[in-house]
Amino acid sequence: MGEYTQANDNPRVPFSQRPIIILGAGIIGCATARQLLLNGFPVALVAEYLPGDQNINYASAWAGAAWHAAGGICPEYRYFQAVTHRHLLKMAQEDPESGVCVVDAREYLEQPPGENSSVWGKTVLSNFRHLKAGEFPSNFDTAWAYDTLVTDPTLHMPWLGKQITALGGQFIRKKVESLQELYALFPESTVFINASGVGSKALTDVMDDNCFPERGQNVFLKTENCNQMFFRNGKQYTYIIPRPLSKGVVLGGVKQQDDLSPEVDMEIARDELARTHILAPHIVPEHPAEDTISHIIGIRPSRRGGFRLDSENIGNRTILSAYGFGGGGYAFSYGVADALAKMVERTERESVI
Ligand SMILES: Cc1cc2nc3c(=O)[nH]c(=O)nc-3n(C[C@H](O)[C@H](O)[C@H](O)COP(=O)(O)OP(=O)(O)OC[C@H]3O[C@@H](n4cnc5c(N)ncnc54)[C@H](O)[C@@H]3O)c2cc1C
Repeated sequence: MGEYTQANDNPRVPFSQRPIIILGAGIIGCATARQLLLNGFPVALVAEYLPGDQNINYASAWAGAAWHAAGGICPEYRYFQAVTHRHLLKMAQEDPESGVCVVDAREYLEQPPGENSSVWGKTVLSNFRHLKAGEFPSNFDTAWAYDTLVTDPTLHMPWLGKQITALGGQFIRKKVESLQELYALFPESTVFINASGVGSKALTDVMDDNCFPERGQNVFLKTENCNQMFFRNGKQYTYIIPRPLSKGVVLGGVKQQDDLSPEVDMEIARDELARTHILAPHIVPEHPAEDTISHIIGIRPSRRGGFRLDSENIGNRTILSAYGFGGGGYAFSYGVADALAKMVERTERESVI
């Protein structure tokens, strides 16, 4: 009794009353904050950009954002995606203001599906079926149809921000240079979550060299024909992601490593229009009217070797890292949030027992 030898032990404040501090208020930081608040923890988020902001470096404002089963991932990561799907489906069914919708998807594969392909998604998706020859363009090997979920980030991020505030979470707009700076701001806290996306490349005590910015540029086409998703799976990276609640479709895509340009590249835009017209001419006209088109540019927080999700005890603090989600942050978001909440609960258990 009276001995505070364990990591995470703060003699002055019981664990459950020490705010969990999250660096970053993108989809990863915010989904995690919501889950922790629902589980009863006090939470503060510190970030340069907050829900509703539209900076190019704030990836969560610009995502497609489709739930697509990633190929080439381990079973644990598949489960993160499955948990995300469960949460998003509930939002789509119960709260249209969340910006989440169920849409009809067509996935066309250039090659026969490999050993660890995205076909595993059929364990999660509704109405999955193999399309028969004649039901899809003959230049593809295989095609699937299923219902999936799309999240409109222009609605979802503000909605999530409001949920967090209503649950008692606190947003603090601030850019920090290091995690140390964050520790000094919250001397009573012992659990810190680094969800700073590509910011982890520059934080002086993280400096993760595997992180790199990966520019995306999409065309947003205004159209009433916005309930069907198309995804070309193979060497060519082309998709049409519907945004029914914003009456349009997102046309892509492109990935440009280490390119930070905020200017619209019209050559890319023309190429995306051409590719998506071939994929679904009934949605994308060959020459859409200029006033139906706008452009989306965002920097994906990518990481060589995949995203980082782990826990470290450093002195009396626990540091959880959750960054580097590249082009899949929305599809992993609520599953990762659930995993992080469980990691915080394990730390709580160690502190209490
Ligand atoms: C064009 C495009 C299309 C995409 N399509 C899809 C899709 O269809 N499906 C999908 O799942 N994903 C998609 N993505 C990817 C998705 O947007 C990202 O994976 C996701 O948004 C990453 O979220 P995050 O919270 O990790 O990072 P971010 O949203 O970038 O948030 C990082 C947060 O950290 C804060 N921060 C960083 N450094 C500091 C610091 N030093 N001090 C204070 N605050 C700091 C920032 O201010 C921000 O709040 C797409 C991305 C782009 C660009």
